[in-house]
Amino acid sequence: MIKPFMPQLVYIEPQALEYPLGAKLKEKFEDLGVEIRQTTSHNQVRNIPGENHLQKYRNAKSTLVIGVRKTLKFDTSKPSAEYAIPLATGCMGHCQYCYLQTTMGSKPYIRTYVNLEDIFSQAEDYMNERAPQDTRFEASCTSDIVGIDHLTHSLKQAIEFFGNSENGKLRFVTKYHHVDHLLDADHKGKTRFRFSINADYVIRNFEHGTSPLDYRIGAAAKVADAGYPLGFIVAPIYIHDGWKEGYEKMFQKLNEQLSEKAREDLTFELIQHRFTKPAKRVIQKNYPMTKLELDEEKRKYKWGRYGIGKYVYQKDEQEDLKNTMQANIERYFPEAKLEYFT
Ligand code: SF4
Repeated sequence: MIKPFMPQLVYIEPQALEYPLGAKLKEKFEDLGVEIRQTTSHNQVRNIPGENHLQKYRNAKSTLVIGVRKTLKFDTSKPSAEYAIPLATGCMGHCQYCYLQTTMGSKPYIRTYVNLEDIFSQAEDYMNERAPQDTRFEASCTSDIVGIDHLTHSLKQAIEFFGNSENGKLRFVTKYHHVDHLLDADHKGKTRFRFSINADYVIRNFEHGTSPLDYRIGAAAKVADAGYPLGFIVAPIYIHDGWKEGYEKMFQKLNEQLSEKAREDLTFELIQHRFTKPAKRVIQKNYPMTKLELDEEKRKYKWGRYGIGKYVYQKDEQEDLKNTMQANIERYFPEAKLEYFT
């Protein structure tokens, strides 16, 4: 997706209009001529248009609900952050392995929260509890927050809020390149801007509706030059014909585009492809034509919490993946920090 996301349909909860951002968004979508409907609760957004599951699923992903966050207890987000900060849920992307398909199953639409003051004040309480230690907040646990932020600027506000905090740190990850409005945010180096990247083949086949690799890398170079600490999550690392060349090419492109400044504080996180049985069922329902390899027989079973195990690659394949990625990182980015391979 090259163009920034624009919803086809917008729902507004009446309470959202009591907040400045809610009123502003209403005006914005009116001016843009986007269809707006009122709803009393986000649980009542049952009337997403569409004649069957697939149509409703697609339409939901281009529907935006403007709402108020009622639950102000933040989820934990270990190990990379203490808390998940809830700015939005859902995503317009069509990544076939997206975890939101299982976690947000019945609500695939995008919901953005306008009561930012309440959310930030809750974050403040969490920071005070842990002070003088730092408290890290993850903003992309339930959505691709960057991909919708050109409409709401709530991430931008969060970046500046944590920039001005004593002990707060913010992090998030994105597959979108629409970052221009974030370049002048007063982040004070307290936000780590991460991009999810992959071999070109994987993005083209399994990540429809997201930004192409070159665009993501271009955006990464821009945010690093704007002083943000930068990170890459290579995920999911997926074995396919020519995967070694595909991933090496990805690292070469990164190497060509990243400035010296971008390399000063750079992290990599590596996550191999995995699936659970429930996730496989949802993927096949939402993307019946998927080419994704989801054969339990070919994988190694790894016991998981709540009795839901994961299918990961075989031991020797895992070693091969890890060594290949590590060798590329050492070769092109010797100063970078490799946080983990999982
Ligand atoms: Fe899911 Fe991220 Fe893809 Fe959106 S961009 S569909 S959140 S994996």
